[in-house]
Amino acid sequence: MKHPIILVTSSTAEIGAEFPDPSVSVAHNYLDAIRAGGGIPLCLPIMPDADLVSGALDCCDGILLTGGGDINPTLYWPEVPGTLLATCEFGSPGRDEMEFMLIRSALDRRVPILAICRGHQLVNVALGGTLYVDLPTQRPGEVLHCDYDRRFEAIHDIHLAPDSRFARLAEREILGVNSTHHQAIERLASVLRVAAAAPDGVIEATEFTPEEQARRGWLQTVQYHPERLLRNHPEHRFLFDAFLEACKTR
Ligand code: MN
Repeated sequence: MKHPIILVTSSTAEIGAEFPDPSVSVAHNYLDAIRAGGGIPLCLPIMPDADLVSGALDCCDGILLTGGGDINPTLYWPEVPGTLLATCEFGSPGRDEMEFMLIRSALDRRVPILAICRGHQLVNVALGGTLYVDLPTQRPGEVLHCDYDRRFEAIHDIHLAPDSRFARLAEREILGVNSTHHQAIERLASVLRVAAAAPDGVIEATEFTPEEQARRGWLQTVQYHPERLLRNHPEHRFLFDAFLEACKTR
């Protein structure tokens, strides 16, 4: 297969670019990163409909879970305190439900998944893990994890786990990354392992344990935004290339 078809998750913009009607919104950087590696990016609208998800998976080779608003914490912490809940800026209505469906069905079919930022957190929750609802108050530390003004720059290092596939693909032990996240992984899902962490211990990348990978296929999650780094930091290209290769050969 020459051109793997990649479904890219989107959010809903209340006002479209060409008409003042609710519209699909997805940052172009994701689509460009897929295209630059020879893939064909197709945007998937938010439609929490099992039939649609199943049919869409029938005609694609991989899933890119994009960044976006916070996941509703009551999905993993029913008694979440109101003060933490008040710090959340949620994703578009229906997006959590839709993407949980998509993750579960994709893993059942061994469709490769690259999960970025919100996607990284969502995969952990879908597999039984939890999140810090508000990282600055629940886990204050010396590393700044949310800086939108410098979202195209590497602002903190991550240390790659030496025995991880992620480190093998990156061919290095340390990467500089951008950071625009409000939440982070708290308890890691049992089937995942840490592939990289920030100097303060915040989990910045995960993958399946080797046993789980044999059962469920290729999955890589990252807390940072590699698609925004490609122009100034081309060393981040490896992640998209490895993902597209997994999509071609599954
Ligand atoms: Mn970070």
